[in-house]
Amino acid sequence: MQTYIGPEGVLQKRQQYFYPCTSHFYRNPPQLVKGEMQYLYGHDGTRYTDFFAGVSVVATGHCNPEIAERTAEQLRTLQHTCTIYLTQPNVELAERLAGILPGRLSRTFFVNSGSEANEGALLLARLHTGRRGFLALEQSLHGRTYLTMSVTGLQMWRTDPQLAEAADVTFIPRPYERGMNADEAGRRSIAALRAALAAKGGEIAAMIAEPIQGNGGIIAPPDWYFAEVKRLLEQHGVLLIADEIQTGFGRTGRMFAMDRYGVAPDIVTMAKALGGGIPVAGFATTDEIAASFTRPSASTFGGNPVSSVTALAVLDYIEAHRLPERAERLGAQLRGGLEHLAARFPQLALDVRGAGLMRGAELCADEPQRGAGLVDDVLEAMKDRGYLIGKNGVNRNVLAFQPPLVIAEADIDGLLAALEAVLAGLA
Ligand code: PMP
Repeated sequence: MQTYIGPEGVLQKRQQYFYPCTSHFYRNPPQLVKGEMQYLYGHDGTRYTDFFAGVSVVATGHCNPEIAERTAEQLRTLQHTCTIYLTQPNVELAERLAGILPGRLSRTFFVNSGSEANEGALLLARLHTGRRGFLALEQSLHGRTYLTMSVTGLQMWRTDPQLAEAADVTFIPRPYERGMNADEAGRRSIAALRAALAAKGGEIAAMIAEPIQGNGGIIAPPDWYFAEVKRLLEQHGVLLIADEIQTGFGRTGRMFAMDRYGVAPDIVTMAKALGGGIPVAGFATTDEIAASFTRPSASTFGGNPVSSVTALAVLDYIEAHRLPERAERLGAQLRGGLEHLAARFPQLALDVRGAGLMRGAELCADEPQRGAGLVDDVLEAMKDRGYLIGKNGVNRNVLAFQPPLVIAEADIDGLLAALEAVLAGLA
């Protein structure tokens, strides 16, 4: 039995041994010591219902016994070899992904994180098209590496503020603007895309986009938007990279969010929920595009047996328990409850957004600074009531609800009741 040092001890060691940039949620953060499906436990035994899932990661629940058993079994049998040796789990995983990915995407290159998957996808697009430039949406987040940070629109996550030179990137306004009708915001974004393509389409390798922006504040475009994007890109030979790192594997009510729009991207990147907490990520593409990736490239840990078996167990669980349908159904319950709260507290100007179990509620949408302060109050008060929720958005004033997809109706009822009480205290 481990002796816990408690939140104060952990904080003290973080301050001493982590980089100063390392941040944490909460004024009085708990020390988390145990997970059980949709629940997390503090060192003092307090149970929290997790509505953030480690930022969309543990879709299949914390320490899901059906998955953990298969991970442990593989860990005891064959742990690591590297892709230079033949093993079965990674080829089975690639085959399995080919069966569920949108369009004709049938080949996957395995890596270990979302940043790495996007980095690989961007490089692949350059190799395939022979072009160097990229298009990305404003307020996007695609990763922490040099190239992926260059296509990240959210200033907060551009750790190096002088970064722009890593690639020629043109940012397009996202298909959302507070106070603007959704179709109008979509059309504005398309007009900017059309202008960028007319100006330098021949120099652009790919456009990278999140089907629903996560860290940007849970921003879903109008349903027609990505089909139009794809049509325009094709006219200029520009590839579409869908960053499904937050949206993939059932979260939005479909296996991949691009399925909602009926769009087949040229490249899909995936991470987070695929391993349910064990690092496994990848970028998938078609036979033709994959053929352009010819020079030697290998990932030491990418597609290792433990990660691959875990991902196969995650996919089995998602399919057996019909988690995409569940996300759609419970997402509607959550959305209904949040909209009810928006109507009950008009003075808090709650803007409810998203799809499935990827929901956001912007607080004081017209006074973002005030909203950001209130969001911190709400997070703290909800934690004290036993609910962990997230926050994101350009101004950090968006409450984020991205729970494990195994969450129950009663958990959502409980969350909404607690949130109602917390918001009543603020309003
Ligand atoms: N893309 C998106 C949409 C993300 O949300 C994130 C992480 N929040 C990343 C890429 C980067 O993933 P990772 O942290 O695994 O490198």
